Amino acid sequence: MDFTLNEELLAMKEAARDFAQKEIVPNADKWDEEHYFPIEVVRKMGELGYYGCPIPEEYGGIDIGHLAQSIITEEIARGSSSLRVSFNTQCLGTAFSILRHGTEEQKKEWIPDLITAKKLGCFAITEPDSGSDVMSMKSTAKPDGDGFILNGCKTWISGVPNADVAIVYAYHDREQGSKGLSAFVVDLHLEGVSMAGLDKLGTRSMPTGEISFDNVRLPGTALLGKLGSGVKICFSSLNQTRLSCAAGGVGLAQACLDTAVRYCNEREQFGELVGKFQMNQELVANMAAEIEAARLLTYRAAWQKDQGDLGNVLETCYAKFFTGETVTRCAHSTMKILGAYGYSTEYPAARFYRDAVVYQIVEGTVNVQKMIIAQDQLGYRKANR
Ligand SMILES: Cc1cc2nc3c(=O)[nH]c(=O)nc-3n(C[C@H](O)[C@H](O)[C@H](O)COP(=O)(O)OP(=O)(O)OC[C@H]3O[C@@H](n4cnc5c(N)ncnc54)[C@H](O)[C@@H]3O)c2cc1C
Repeated sequence: MDFTLNEELLAMKEAARDFAQKEIVPNADKWDEEHYFPIEVVRKMGELGYYGCPIPEEYGGIDIGHLAQSIITEEIARGSSSLRVSFNTQCLGTAFSILRHGTEEQKKEWIPDLITAKKLGCFAITEPDSGSDVMSMKSTAKPDGDGFILNGCKTWISGVPNADVAIVYAYHDREQGSKGLSAFVVDLHLEGVSMAGLDKLGTRSMPTGEISFDNVRLPGTALLGKLGSGVKICFSSLNQTRLSCAAGGVGLAQACLDTAVRYCNEREQFGELVGKFQMNQELVANMAAEIEAARLLTYRAAWQKDQGDLGNVLETCYAKFFTGETVTRCAHSTMKILGAYGYSTEYPAARFYRDAVVYQIVEGTVNVQKMIIAQDQLGYRKANR
């Protein structure tokens, strides 16, 4: 067992931390306040190869794997939790799914532009009446001639309304149940597509919105994978985007701890630094230990993927579940330590607090993660199949 990061990974971690410190941290609160999506920074990350870690060089990637991608995601989230979402919209929920399931033409057409962020991506599963219960979605893509007619509404989609392309899940034949669900690579500039943004509590520098499909004519080449392989593509893609979410949660939790520690060593009350009070020390100790555990779970799941085990649902759930709980506790602890200043806009603690909650919702809620873990332990349904 080797817990050390090799020199290449350490250098990438340091470079991503420097990038976040210079390009993101000074502006993160302002962008958040203005709900500004810094596309110029996303494009720079694309140019640096950040979205191409698990993508082979022939499609423009840097092919160094999931652990590298997780480490970079962590450092970017430490600067802005909003921007970590781009690792899923540009790569794991889009380009990486195309890499795994697409035709050669689809790979060449979409992957290079997604991972360089020349085109903005998104993946669209959720609908107004279909959240955790993915299979209850209503969108349809009925076969028509040599293509499909797409109808339906997707909501809470990260990257919308700015996205150019989406991986959309829809029933080509509802009668067939789960075998009737398919995945499509949809150009969002097609006639009949409309998008609108949604307001939200946090993650305000990454837009989230709705997409409506009104009789959108898709060419046959839009089908991703085989007809009827939507369930397989959707859940295997979620198993990769979940890891990225865990890595982002570790980064945000670390940002909470960084802020709490700095404040503990600046603020005095009763003639002492507030860090000298044991009750604050307990918060700091819990945060530090839990973050380290969340990081190790995340790195382990990433390492497994780099060994070729992309179906490690259980270990990815451990990482995502534990990180979701850790980051919300850390954001709360930082808020407690900073007192009124945590509640102000002078420090980033309020942004951290608002951003942390979403790690218990996206990519499968905390209940869904617990359900997968418990069912595996109880022998009802194996997580890794
Ligand atoms: C900021 C943001 C970005 C998002 N980005 C995307 C995106 O890019 N693409 C996309 O497709 N979706 C996206 N989503 C949607 C997200 O994936 C869903 O919100 C999530 O899957 C949960 O669905 P829901 O919110 O409808 O909750 P529901 O499924 O309605 O659940 C409501 C509550 O019931 C619980 N619950 C539901 N079923 C069970 C069960 N069987 N057992 C126990 N408890 C249960 C849930 O845990 C939750 O507490 C995003 C959401 C947000 C907030």
